[in-house]
Amino acid sequence: MESTNNIEERVARLHAGGLIDMHFDLPLGLFWNRARSNVIATDFLPEIKSGDIGLLGVALYVEDKYLPDQALRIGLDQVALLYRELEITPRLALCKTFAEIQRAQAEGRIGFLLTMEGAEPLGNDPSLLRIFYELGLRSISLTHARANEAAAGGIFAPSGSPSHGLTRFGRELVRECERLAILIDVAHINPAGFEEICALTTKPLIVSHTNARHFYDIERNISDEQIKMIGARGGVIGINAILVSPRKEESTLDRYVDHIEYVADLIGTDGVGIGFDFCEFLWRQMPIAEREELEAKLSTPHFLPDLSNHAHTRNVTRKLIERGFNDQAIEKILRGNWLRVLRQVL
Ligand SMILES: [Zn+2]
Repeated sequence: MESTNNIEERVARLHAGGLIDMHFDLPLGLFWNRARSNVIATDFLPEIKSGDIGLLGVALYVEDKYLPDQALRIGLDQVALLYRELEITPRLALCKTFAEIQRAQAEGRIGFLLTMEGAEPLGNDPSLLRIFYELGLRSISLTHARANEAAAGGIFAPSGSPSHGLTRFGRELVRECERLAILIDVAHINPAGFEEICALTTKPLIVSHTNARHFYDIERNISDEQIKMIGARGGVIGINAILVSPRKEESTLDRYVDHIEYVADLIGTDGVGIGFDFCEFLWRQMPIAEREELEAKLSTPHFLPDLSNHAHTRNVTRKLIERGFNDQAIEKILRGNWLRVLRQVL
């Protein structure tokens, strides 16, 4: 058994390069608080800093009530809010290239990678992808848990997602992403869409935030076969801290690390990363009626008591050490695998 001091030294060493979390609904949080200023510094930065986060995928997301007509407007509003906050928070840096990611790290700044969860802001207009690319978009998942002009999302049940794959527009987007060097994120997509994206593309694919169906069997999560497909393509799967189990009593830090171990056992430690999806802050701000509506459509999230925000990342690292992962493997899971894919694709 290692002494507590040794373990804490190892954790500090492993965190020194900064962790990468590929999915955070920060732009939606900014949108909900758009009457306020300095929201990131006040509400998020203390936790992001204490969790040693180096790079964060921040996802544009448009709520159902704005679809379809206002989706573009809301997406652009979220970008504008993000830019405004970046301007007044020198500790943060929007990264559009791999060199900018490295520079942010060298300067001790926290990098943001702009991502999109659901292609709704693009409507059915492929040229808008280019506009968002210019604004900094570097990763896109075609859908959330709903159908749109591009594809259909996987539902929160073991079967029953729409049987169709991508639309013509969806296929066009995927090809344009590869051309522009935007990461293609297959989180949330239905099984048919997943398969089609794999067939259409050649670069590594990512799943920014998901869990293994082995522990939580819904089509929104990822099957053993899908995990192997991502692994075969040199992709990375970010493990989500919200859907680790359908049962509250099994929603624990240990079960979170079970997902990491499970994916690593199937495709090796090169294929697994972090995509916490910490969204309890949104849940707390939601009116009860809206929360109930969302729970009925999706599922009740079981937030993990010791892994519910960025200040808790050391708990994961300690647990990985406890499970016997070596430093090299932990470094890959916390940071190195995402960096590898970002270097390759961006
Ligand atoms: Zn999501």
